[in-house]
Order: sequence, then C-alpha cells, then structure tokens
Amino acid sequence: MNRRQWLAGFAAAGLASSRFAISIAYAQQDPAKAPLPLKDYEPLSMLKVPETKVARARFPVVDFHTHLSFVDRNAKPEKASFRAKREEVLVVMDRKNVRTMVNLTGGYGAALDETIRYWQTPSPDRFVVFTEPWFNRVTESSFPQFQAGEIERAKKAGAKGLKVLKTLGLYLREQVTTGPLVKVDDRRFDPMWEACGAMKMPVAIHTSDPEAFFLPTDRFNERQEELSAHPDWSFHGRDFPSNRELHEARLRVAARHPRTQFVALHVGNAEDLRWIGEWLDRHSNLHVEIGARIGELGRQPRMARKFFDKYQDRILFGTDAVPYGVETPQQVFGDLLYEIYYRFLETEDEYFDYAPAPIPPQGRWKIYGLGLPDGILKKVYHQNAARLLGL
Ligand SMILES: [Zn+2]
Repeated sequence: MNRRQWLAGFAAAGLASSRFAISIAYAQQDPAKAPLPLKDYEPLSMLKVPETKVARARFPVVDFHTHLSFVDRNAKPEKASFRAKREEVLVVMDRKNVRTMVNLTGGYGAALDETIRYWQTPSPDRFVVFTEPWFNRVTESSFPQFQAGEIERAKKAGAKGLKVLKTLGLYLREQVTTGPLVKVDDRRFDPMWEACGAMKMPVAIHTSDPEAFFLPTDRFNERQEELSAHPDWSFHGRDFPSNRELHEARLRVAARHPRTQFVALHVGNAEDLRWIGEWLDRHSNLHVEIGARIGELGRQPRMARKFFDKYQDRILFGTDAVPYGVETPQQVFGDLLYEIYYRFLETEDEYFDYAPAPIPPQGRWKIYGLGLPDGILKKVYHQNAARLLGL
C-alpha cells in the first residue's frame, strides 16, 4: 500500500490525528527525522524544587504487604520458594526502620509450615506470615468446609491472616483453569470468610486492577507501556467482569461477614477515592493498604491528603515489595523503595518518581508528597496494622 492508503486507513479506523499523521508522513520523507520511539524517551525535569532524602521512617513501620515467599503449586507436597534470605532482608529493615514485615503469600499446607518455620518462628516480632486458600481444590464438593478447616489449621500453625490474590474474580474458574470464572462473592467461600472472623485473622484481599487494564491496550491507554510489558495483565474483553462488578462483589462479601476484618490491598486501586471513601463509610470492617499505588495517590495529592485525614484509622502502610522483583520496578525490595514511600508520606516534595526506575513503570507521570502530620503517620505506619494483627 502507498502512504496515502496507509494514512487513509488511520482515518477510517477513527484514529486520524492530523499531527500524528503529519509526523509519520514527514518521517517517511526523511528517515533522519523519524519520531523518537516512546520507549526511548526519558525526559529530565528542569524544575528546581526541594528534594528531601528520607533515609529512615520517622516512626517504626509495619510493612503490611510483601512477598518474601511464594508457593510452588505444582510441587507435591506443596513447596515454598523463598525470594531472599532472612539476614539480607533484616539488614534493610533495620536501616529503614521497618519493625515488621508481613509476608502475605505464605501459601498453604506443607509450604505454609515451611514458610512460618523459616521467617516467623525465629523472630515473630519481625516477620508475620499469612496463609492462602487452596484454590485448586475448589472443584471438590467438600471444599467450603475443608477450606474453613484449613483456616483453623493455619492459625494453629502460626499464620496471622489470610491473603486472597486477584486470582479470585479474574483467574479462578469452575474447573480451576477452564469453565466460567468464579465470582468474588461465591458462596463456597463463606465458611472461609467466617472462619477468619472467628479466628481473628484479617483478610488481605486484592480485587480487580487499575481500570486501564480493562480497556484496549491502545494509544489512549494511560498504562500502555505497562500492559505491553505484561500483556497477561490485560482484562479487556473475553469473559472478564468489569472493574466495578469486581469491587461490588467484594463489598457484598464484607457486608455478609461483619465480624471479619478485610483489608482492600492497593487502596482498591486508588483511582476513585470518593467511591472508595463510600466503601469505608458503609463497611466498618473494611480497611485499605497503599502498596504499589503511591503512583495513583501521589498524582492527586490534594484528594489523597483529604482521604488520609478522613480515614486515618483505616489506612495501612504496605509496599508490595518483592526481593529481586526486577520485572516490576515499583516493587523491588530495597532501600530505594522505602525512601520513595517515606518521601511521599512525610514530605511536601513535588514532582518526583514513584518507583526506582528510569521510566515510570505504571504510567508516565510523577508524584507529589502528602506531608502527613505525626499523628496520622504513626497510625498509617504501624498503629492500624498492629491493631488488626494483634501485635
Ligand atoms: Zn502483592
């Protein structure tokens, strides 16, 4: 096809942007003036604004959202794989004033026991381990009671809470990997949620994802680069429920189990803080955790500051840290990650990176610090988590 036909194709697809078309036509005439590929664009800010290094949190921290281990689901019996050694994690914790790390992905069965033995048993004040559901046994008719029983067993083994990945609602299907998706408020999980309430084990639950993950990965998508790097994170089309349906199903679960404490991880994605405030107003057993969403909170600092003022007793500090998790730079465990979170919460610095990476990995924007007062910092850093965990 010639250039005219090619450009006409854009117009027909409704994508005509005269500036875009002109720049492409121009580049075809003179290859030396080809547009700079987006992936190569790394603009440096010329702003002269204060840059505060916060090497240590002002108050002790409970990091409520980390992944120090994962369960190898294919091994029989289940096997834990550890992402780092205790000693190397402890060194960073001591430097950064992190008192306790909550390892959410402790798994189940033999893997859970192994994880508790390695991380939690030697220093239960520094590491806390959560259990996870046996999703691959959901097909068994005895699953509801079995899973509730496993919560009790996990509690006896030392687990302090339950983690539910976005698996529920987005990956788990009737025959585990095939068939219709299992809904977040599926009744088969009711005994599990109830057991968590009875055992005083908080539920850390990740539901849905940024709204852009439900839209086409095209030039209008603000997370285009993130979705291109992780195509399996797209929930556009096919049989996926909408972002709203997923959150509403989780709220029905919270309403049905008022004795159980739920922590909505990633601030329910933090994109619509007014709506998330309504969740918190309506459900006194619901809390939020900020891991991997300072990019969202920090690009709406005035709204976020009001949110922290109003819900200061319901917000938990978390990072979603993964040791050596280089494929997600916003989550790489280490000094830099904590310094960015502390700068965001403690200072009023402006226009800085939300992740230790040359290109903002979740979307091309920067963030602004909230400058929270000491009273709120203490609650967010540790008091709210300590209350939920019974520390
Ligand atoms: Zn996580």
